[in-house]
Amino acid sequence: MRFRQLVAVFLCACCPPAANHPTQSTEGTGSGSAADNRRVSPPSTEVTLDTLEEGERTNGFTTTAVYLDAGDKPIGARFVHGKTGFTVDYARIESAPQGFIWVNSYPTSDKGEPHTQEHLLLGKGDRGRKMGSFQSMALAESSAFTDQWRTCYHFHTVASHDVFWPVFEDQLDTLLNPDYSDEEIRREVRNFGVDKTDAGTLRLEEKGTVYNEMVRTYESPGAMLWRTGLRMVYGRQHPLAFESGGYPDAIRTMTRITSRTWASSSRCRVRCRWRACSNTRTRCSTRKPGAKVA
Ligand SMILES: [Zn+2]
Repeated sequence: MRFRQLVAVFLCACCPPAANHPTQSTEGTGSGSAADNRRVSPPSTEVTLDTLEEGERTNGFTTTAVYLDAGDKPIGARFVHGKTGFTVDYARIESAPQGFIWVNSYPTSDKGEPHTQEHLLLGKGDRGRKMGSFQSMALAESSAFTDQWRTCYHFHTVASHDVFWPVFEDQLDTLLNPDYSDEEIRREVRNFGVDKTDAGTLRLEEKGTVYNEMVRTYESPGAMLWRTGLRMVYGRQHPLAFESGGYPDAIRTMTRITSRTWASSSRCRVRCRWRACSNTRTRCSTRKPGAKVA
């Protein structure tokens, strides 16, 4: 499987809004003379879906779409942050409060940089461990996976909306401000330990959370078939053909510097979506055939 736990230092950089069937849309993110004529909500005014207008700016975000239901009543909206291009979709649905964040994380080699970052960001460092403890107390659940060119993080809580927002804030802060150590990179990627053989003698064991996961992945004939197909279609040096989870032979060449350099590159871009409402409980799932699970 190809889910991978998180990582990715992501920059809240500009991602043009993808088609998401908005019922209305406007161009731009809130700058320029045209934008100056748009309605700007005073800071003290509470923004509600019922009164929200396309093009309206509030708290640094521009409303680029208002989503309507079958009765033409607003059920959500898309907001784009003027300074960073950070895109937020809000949707009112009958479910537990939940969020889904993704980062564009194109692989630049077969070393598995996106997958490694996924593991490190949410689970390692004091920040990652603090988030885990906080989510336990908030009755929140979260997970993540690395796909070919995106790393996705999803979370929800069965507590309440009041609890959801701190969970959401904490998740974002964890993604933006990781503090994992070089030693945690080594242990997560690949290292050596000592193991006993059946004869009782000692031997070196090659291991590492990411390494072990991808060795298991490539024990499946289908994984090699899939990799071969992508390389035939796109070419061996194409981002869509690189193994975003890490190919075992290439993982061995990953260093802490490689990992940190990739993480801080401007290739990582962030989109954010979250949903909120009550009653029934559902979970986001974007898993597709061929997707990777961590
Ligand atoms: Zn993983």
